[in-house]
Formats: sequence, C-alpha cells, structure tokens
Amino acid sequence: MTEGEHDGIPPTSSPAADRQVRLLLIGPPGSGKGTQGKRVAERYGVEHIAAGDLLRHEVETASEIGIRASNFMQQGELVPDDLVFELVMPRVVAAGRANGYVLDGFPRSLGQAEDCRPFFEEHDVAVSLAVLLDAPDDLMPRLLERAQSEGRFDDTPEVIRARLEVFRDEVEPLLDFYRERGLLATVDATGTPDEVWAELQAVLESR
Ligand code: AMP
Repeated sequence: MTEGEHDGIPPTSSPAADRQVRLLLIGPPGSGKGTQGKRVAERYGVEHIAAGDLLRHEVETASEIGIRASNFMQQGELVPDDLVFELVMPRVVAAGRANGYVLDGFPRSLGQAEDCRPFFEEHDVAVSLAVLLDAPDDLMPRLLERAQSEGRFDDTPEVIRARLEVFRDEVEPLLDFYRERGLLATVDATGTPDEVWAELQAVLESR
C-alpha cells in the first residue's frame, strides 16, 4: 500500500513520493548552494554531492587529485575537467542508481554539462532539474564572514574575486544548456536560508 491509500487520499505528487530527485544547483559563490543542498538531501533522502567539498578533501589529504587540483583552487580557477570528472562522476552514477542526488557546483561550465550528459543518460542518471540560486554577485561580505567561520583556504578576498569572475564567465552558457532542454528553474536566493528553502521546495514539489 502506498502512502495515503488507506484513507482514500491519493498519494502526494511530491518528488519524494513518486520520482527521483536529480537536482543541480547553480549559483555564485556564497549564494547558499551548500546550505540548500544539504536541506534537499535531508528532505528527500538523496545524496549531496558538492564538487568543491570533495576537491577540498582531496587537497587536505594530499591525494594525487588534490595535489594536481590545489593550485587551481588557490587561484579561484576551475580545476581541469578530467580531475573533477574522475572524482564526481562515479558518485553521481552511484547516487542516481540509489535514491537520487543534489549536485552542488558540478557541472559548472557548458563544456562539463555537454561532456557529462551523454554519460549520465547512458546510465539513466541525468540531471532532471537545474535550479539557479539567483543572488547579486557582490557577495563578498557574506563570503568573508564564511571564511572566518569555516576557515576555507579558498575564501581570501583575492580568491573570492577570481571565483566570482569565473562564475560570471561560465554561467550564461550553462544556464542556456538547461533552459533549452526545459530543465531550468530560478529561485530568489537573496532571502534568509528558510525563505530560500521554502521557494526551492515549492519548485521541487511542482515538478
Ligand atoms: P565551491 O566550493 O563550489 O565554491 O568550489 C570551490 C573550488 O573548487 C572552485 O573555486 C574550483 O576551483 C573548484 N571546483 C568546484 N567545482 C568545480 C567544477 N565543477 N569544475 C572545476 N572546478 C571546480
């Protein structure tokens, strides 16, 4: 018996009930991708795959990938695709075959989106919704505050400036990629985390 059948109420149409959440969050540094990604993971029981967190872990443990990625990260540049793919793709496939995922920060360029789509489709785990967390891109104060509380090595003012610049350069073609496929939604990310979460959840429930 599915939820709701016992009392004559049809099962809810929420993605948690009948469809896998395979969500990509896109947004400038500091727009709340991490915070919202964790909430999505918790609410829908899917895996939160944050490319930046995975990469920072590799750097901190001085793995081969970390050693190769570290210079790019310290300059706020994108890490070469082959390293990111090696790290992230197997996790996406595994999560897609299990309960689903929320991707935070990958794909991050049109090239990454184009290159990974056929592979994901082949494994039946392609992104089913991309959400832009829309925030003004002068998020420096928020990021500097986070740098103090979290101690991220790539949150110095110069690196933040470079990361915002990279975001501005990459985002439009990436958004177009998902827009053309009818997979793009936008959420206003300027409110409190609770306000953003309410809007994001409404988008997820309506799909
Ligand atoms: P984030 O925590 O998402 O802000 O990412 C931190 C840093 O990790 C970025 O500034 C990049 O250097 C690197 N990074 C994260 N995701 C990607 C990606 N998809 N492709 C290339 N580099 C990435």
